[in-house]
Amino acid sequence: MSRVVIVGGGISGISTAYYLSRRGIPATLVEKQDRLGGVIHTETVHGCVIESGPDSFIAIKPWALDLINELGLSGEVIGSNDHLRVTYLLRHGRLLPLPDGLMLMVPTKLGPMISTRLLGWPTKIHMGLEMLRKPPRTPMPDRSVADFIRDHYGQETVDYLAEPLLAGVYGGDPEALSVRSVLTRFVELEAKYGSLSRGVLAEMRRAHGATGKAALFRTLKRGLGAMVEAAVAATGDAMARVRGSAETIEPADSGYRVRVDGEWLEAGQVVLAAQAYQAAELVEGLDGELARDLAAVPYSSSTVVSLGYRKAGFPHPLNGFGFLVPKRERGRMMACTWVGTKFAHRAADDYVLLRCFLGGDASTHDSDEIIVAAVRHEIHRIMGVGVEPVFVRVARWPRSMAQYTVGHQDRVKRIEERMARLPGLHLAGNGYHGIGVPDCIRMGRDAAARIARGA
Ligand SMILES: Cc1cc2nc3c(=O)[nH]c(=O)nc-3n(C[C@H](O)[C@H](O)[C@H](O)COP(=O)(O)OP(=O)(O)OC[C@H]3O[C@@H](n4cnc5c(N)ncnc54)[C@H](O)[C@@H]3O)c2cc1C
Repeated sequence: MSRVVIVGGGISGISTAYYLSRRGIPATLVEKQDRLGGVIHTETVHGCVIESGPDSFIAIKPWALDLINELGLSGEVIGSNDHLRVTYLLRHGRLLPLPDGLMLMVPTKLGPMISTRLLGWPTKIHMGLEMLRKPPRTPMPDRSVADFIRDHYGQETVDYLAEPLLAGVYGGDPEALSVRSVLTRFVELEAKYGSLSRGVLAEMRRAHGATGKAALFRTLKRGLGAMVEAAVAATGDAMARVRGSAETIEPADSGYRVRVDGEWLEAGQVVLAAQAYQAAELVEGLDGELARDLAAVPYSSSTVVSLGYRKAGFPHPLNGFGFLVPKRERGRMMACTWVGTKFAHRAADDYVLLRCFLGGDASTHDSDEIIVAAVRHEIHRIMGVGVEPVFVRVARWPRSMAQYTVGHQDRVKRIEERMARLPGLHLAGNGYHGIGVPDCIRMGRDAAARIARGA
């Protein structure tokens, strides 16, 4: 088989190379950074495992666990400490717990919803009446997440549940995000039951017993960087590494040729496992319309600030997974995870580790001093923590998280239709069918399977 070139050494590109190697197909991986892993980056400082990018993955999507098991790392898998799961939300400057029984922003338990101080009575009544909704008579068009949630539960639920929950995951704006792409299951439940609450309750009844009390999120004791390292090691000689920036792709006798820092690499098959806007630049000369659709997938920027404190004398209880800051109360920080409570093996016994998530382009341009001062100021205001951290790490991720805005599925369909006219060219990455680590692994695995089939 002629050469396979993979552009992008994040988890999408690495899993493509790994699954190709399992089928005996070697590949050349082009990555412009010195290190592999993309936004997955783990560092151990003072015995604390710092995840500067993703810290875990959702367990119900099996592809990350499949890869981890194949790599022989199943003994290292840990779950989130769900018995300690309480997430707080900042309202009027105070941290209030999210009511028990919320499935994302869908209420499923009456008592906690009635007693919560997070939401007012008009919203609680709206939530109760939602249970009476009938299924829509005609299929609903794609809408923004905010329109969808507003319709079911009112504006306060958008402001104080949907917005902070999605900002903490996507760094995104519910007024722009597509409900069909981001909350696909909820759209299906709406079509079937009308009421989301009744739909989620019916699903929970069915799932009860099948899933038991398995942890919602999983990760590795040593951090997700261990999965990247193991996948690279297992791929071995089947992956040749080229350190450089892919600049363009042209048709060639072999199929394609890829220019990397001015040098041409001949390839029979090319996997574009970089961000969609990077893929757009590469295919501009092959298909301008495809490039325009790829470039139209928006990406948000984020910054993760990790702060390590001595545990002795730390002035705030760590009785939960951390807190979310809704836009209406936000300074710079969108969310803060109390890492040692959420996961075992992450914070050393005598340390408190806070992981602060900031969104927006500004956070990726400002200096470390400005960002750290802003974060410490907010931690002081919200948690009353004014003591000096022992260590601080700042990681910037400019334009890294794809935003599935309204119409995303139609755009991806157009992209795939045009890709079908370019045999031997493949896409993987968080711009298309899921932004989480498991989905990226699945897209890499699927690209490898298509190449093996000669598609
Ligand atoms: C801060 C943060 C927290 C997250 N938290 C979670 C989480 O907890 N759980 C979860 O499941 N998901 C999480 N995600 C999402 C998930 O981590 C990412 O969507 C996923 O890791 C993306 O992998 P990727 O390989 O598609 O892209 P990336 O990791 O972005 O890798 C793309 C690679 O392509 C390279 N590249 C780009 N252009 C070129 C070029 N022209 N030539 C050569 N190389 C190029 C880049 O240098 C980069 O290394 C998080 C993301 C971020 C940013």
